[in-house]
Amino acid sequence: MNELIVGWISLELQVTNSPFNQEQIELLNRLLPSLADSQRIWLSGYLTALQGAKSPVTSSATPLADVAATVQAAPKEVTVLFGSQTGNCNRLAKKLTKELEAKGLKVSLSAMGDFKPNSLKTVQNLLILVSTHGEGDAPDNAITFYEFLHSKRAPKLDTLNFSVLALGDTSYEFYCQTGKDFDKRLEELGAKRISPRIDCDVDYDDSAAEWFKQVIGSLSVASVAATVVSGVNATDVNETESEYSRTNPFQAEVLENLSLNGRGSDRETRHIEISLEGSNLQYEPGDSLGIYPENHPRLVEEIIDAMGWSTTELVTLNKNGDKGSLQEALLRYYEITVLTKPLIEQLAKLTANAGLNELLVAGREQELRSYINGRDLLDLVQDYALKGVPANDFVSLLRKLPARLYSISSSSKAFPDEVHATVRSVRYEAHGRNRYGVCSVHLADRVVAGDKLPVYIQQNMNFKLPENPETPIIMIGPGTGVAPFRAFMGEREETQAPGKSWLFYGDQHFITDFLYQIEWQRWLGDGVLTKMDVAFSRDTDKKVYVQHRMQENSRELYEWLQEGAHVYVCGDEKKMAHDVQTTLLAILEQEGGLSPEAAAEYLSVMQQQKRYQRDVY
Ligand code: NDP
Repeated sequence: MNELIVGWISLELQVTNSPFNQEQIELLNRLLPSLADSQRIWLSGYLTALQGAKSPVTSSATPLADVAATVQAAPKEVTVLFGSQTGNCNRLAKKLTKELEAKGLKVSLSAMGDFKPNSLKTVQNLLILVSTHGEGDAPDNAITFYEFLHSKRAPKLDTLNFSVLALGDTSYEFYCQTGKDFDKRLEELGAKRISPRIDCDVDYDDSAAEWFKQVIGSLSVASVAATVVSGVNATDVNETESEYSRTNPFQAEVLENLSLNGRGSDRETRHIEISLEGSNLQYEPGDSLGIYPENHPRLVEEIIDAMGWSTTELVTLNKNGDKGSLQEALLRYYEITVLTKPLIEQLAKLTANAGLNELLVAGREQELRSYINGRDLLDLVQDYALKGVPANDFVSLLRKLPARLYSISSSSKAFPDEVHATVRSVRYEAHGRNRYGVCSVHLADRVVAGDKLPVYIQQNMNFKLPENPETPIIMIGPGTGVAPFRAFMGEREETQAPGKSWLFYGDQHFITDFLYQIEWQRWLGDGVLTKMDVAFSRDTDKKVYVQHRMQENSRELYEWLQEGAHVYVCGDEKKMAHDVQTTLLAILEQEGGLSPEAAAEYLSVMQQQKRYQRDVY
């Protein structure tokens, strides 16, 4: 059908090459150039549908009045833009697209990074799905669009209709900030909100479904013609998917659980191999593995004791109303290690506790934030003497225990039906108690080979090997940040990709902390890995980090960039990723003779071209 449309646009019909008589040709040649895109698409779909139904296209089948009426009902065009770091908004945007198309709307779906901001002026209906990271930051693939919209170059958008779905985490101060910013800015530019922004917490499914309902309700136009067209577009986003997902995880068998650090290390990193056999779950290097953990049994016990509850008491486990023991609920269903403002507000309402109400008094936000920071449910129930609150009322206020995402450290080509994760245990003391990372310590202390873990694959389109196997890659991944690069190398080895590759790796000590050392050395020996520079920060008097090694190799690194290398950064977001970016900019200035502005532009273009990708946490 698309070919037909193209033909209409570019060709003048001739009697010799068409089945029409002279009169029909003249009519068509008068009509076709006058049609708008949406009218051509509608007409094309309409004729195809008539043919499909074996109805002859005759003048009696298409009276002029009917055509005029149905052209009015041509599908609305909707632009769906997503800004996604870990893939949630990407997945939701695809789902929304399918639902909009099923309602007969014509949808153009795009990552914000791939969208030409100047074309915003021609958009009629804009739906934005965007997440927020760290201290209120936009996802990497949303930055350019975000900056454009907030700059002086942003156009007036008086004719634009829009709505925003914001994903975030209520335990962070700048909850859903990026979504809020887009929402506010679009309004400032004159756009009309067709349905209010919805902010979603970690467990976003219900809120997202509500927003879908609202925006689809506001936009949808039911018409035969529109449905015909949508049938074509819908196939573009169809995917063969496993039945297992974030909301229906696969119970996967653990094959291996090994320690990667040598004796005497301060670090404790596990290499976990998991079987995906029978799941039909597929992944690519750069994707993440979602694992549903269990809370620490001792913390569960202490909370139950502190509240004077009984472990066997029946409580509600989920929104379906399923029941289970309190112990089961706190182990596997609810989050007990993170406090959020909404939780404290709801508990204050439920208990009328004076202390909690005082914590929520306006103007004391900083105090509330500092109390929440690093404390868990046990602290809260002890500090505010919440003993006696009925268990079921209490747990119904808790957030669902979310899965943890780990960058996959295996290539499925090298390990079919398996997935590997590289997980560092989080253990520390705070506010007078030992604290444990929920998933990392569950995996380190309580999961052995043969056990089952609920898992799913989270696609990450923002961290992918170059399509061209000849393209050089530079991988910067200290600590557990090295995980996806093991997958990259496994993939490049299996596919015999000829492109050069360069790893910058670092951790505290060479002897005890060189994760996957034997594999790196083998890949280096075999030529799968071209170059490796390591920085062991605590083996020398002066700290050395990956960015120091980058700086020492600045000339060659710049040459790789000029040859079109893709740069990947994985690991700590707060310090490392920031310092690495500063170093990249410094190298561009120093070796490329660029001004600071030109260097920033160079990196920004690399980001838009997907040549600078980050998986940072
Ligand atoms: P780290 O990033 O903590 O440490 C790796 C190496 O990076 C160390 O040599 C460290 O040196 C060094 N380093 C410290 N600061 C910088 C800097 N500004 N620039 C460059 N290098 C630096 O590795 P981890 O894998 O432990 O942690 C990575 C991230 O993952 C952190 O954000 C952490 O919170 C998070 N995390 C991930 C877990 C997982 O399993 N995936 C579990 C726990 C945490 P030195 O220590 O000597 O300063």
